[in-house]
Amino acid sequence: MPIGEFSERSGLSASRLRAYAAAGLLVPAAIDSASGYRYYSPGQLREAQLVHALRDAGMPIVEIAAVLDAPTTGRLERWSLQVERDASTRHEALAVARRLLAVDDDTVPPGSRRRTEMPILQGVVRTNIGRVRDRNEDAALCRGGLVAVADGMGGHPGGEVASALGLALLEAAFTGRSLHELEAGVRAGNRAICGRAGTDAESEGMGTTLCAAGVLSDGNLGVVNVGDSRAYLWRDHSLQPLTEDHSVTAELIRRGELTERDAVDDPRRSILTRALGTGPDVEVDGSVHPALPGDRLLLCTDGLFNEVAEAEISSLLGAAADLGAVADELVQSALANGGRDNVTVALAEVHA
Ligand code: MG
Repeated sequence: MPIGEFSERSGLSASRLRAYAAAGLLVPAAIDSASGYRYYSPGQLREAQLVHALRDAGMPIVEIAAVLDAPTTGRLERWSLQVERDASTRHEALAVARRLLAVDDDTVPPGSRRRTEMPILQGVVRTNIGRVRDRNEDAALCRGGLVAVADGMGGHPGGEVASALGLALLEAAFTGRSLHELEAGVRAGNRAICGRAGTDAESEGMGTTLCAAGVLSDGNLGVVNVGDSRAYLWRDHSLQPLTEDHSVTAELIRRGELTERDAVDDPRRSILTRALGTGPDVEVDGSVHPALPGDRLLLCTDGLFNEVAEAEISSLLGAAADLGAVADELVQSALANGGRDNVTVALAEVHA
């Protein structure tokens, strides 16, 4: 069929068909030697659609030629992983750009809250391997208005890699702009973990929880959570949970099918219904809370609250002015009560 009809039926423009032919793809079945007019066979339509789809997927011409030479899906799977890695790299670069723009934004528009009036989060992190486990897969950070913990899983070295990656990508994305930015940072961490697990045999099956809180540009606290690590707000000597666990037992308690008391010994307690690293998309819980000077914010992995009752956590949070001393006491209590898991706390205080 003439190039015009082939172009119409394949969805590829005539100029694109000429460019492909020059690169050795979709070479015309015949060319009129007098007029130079190109003809294609109907059998080339499927190949044209395949080339079109792979170009839309961003695959280079040389790779497409290799797929046509050996038409299996192996190269497609490898390209799919490459696309995920590239997307993570671009998200990281965008996060850097956002941070640079946020620095430039120090010229605050009239009427908006100046940066110097923003609440400040100051805090400490403590992590301990516990008394039973042979490695520590937890991670934590408290820097630049962001406080976060992650509880990795998946065997050596997967768990440590997943929790560290989740926190690194979240921190790179965070500028304090909005809750949406925090949630996007968690999703970027998820993509990075999935990408790494897909290319590194040692990291296959790794995952992590992630719980974080950050000071937002409106002075409030944004909180995000996936998994069964927790954020608590301690104010006026009272402890208030800011997150819901994503575990089988927590879901059963919320549905009224299990009591808090029975859940303590339930074998399903450690089974998560959500985690980073389990799939390309992850549902992130997000919420916004007012931050008042003197508020204490505790983020912790399950190694703390499975060993230390909330009443004791609350009393320890008010026991000393020094956050480091309080954090040490929290960890020591978990160890004294069994220390059956890694135990990690990130403890911060809100200052005007
Ligand atoms: Mg744990």
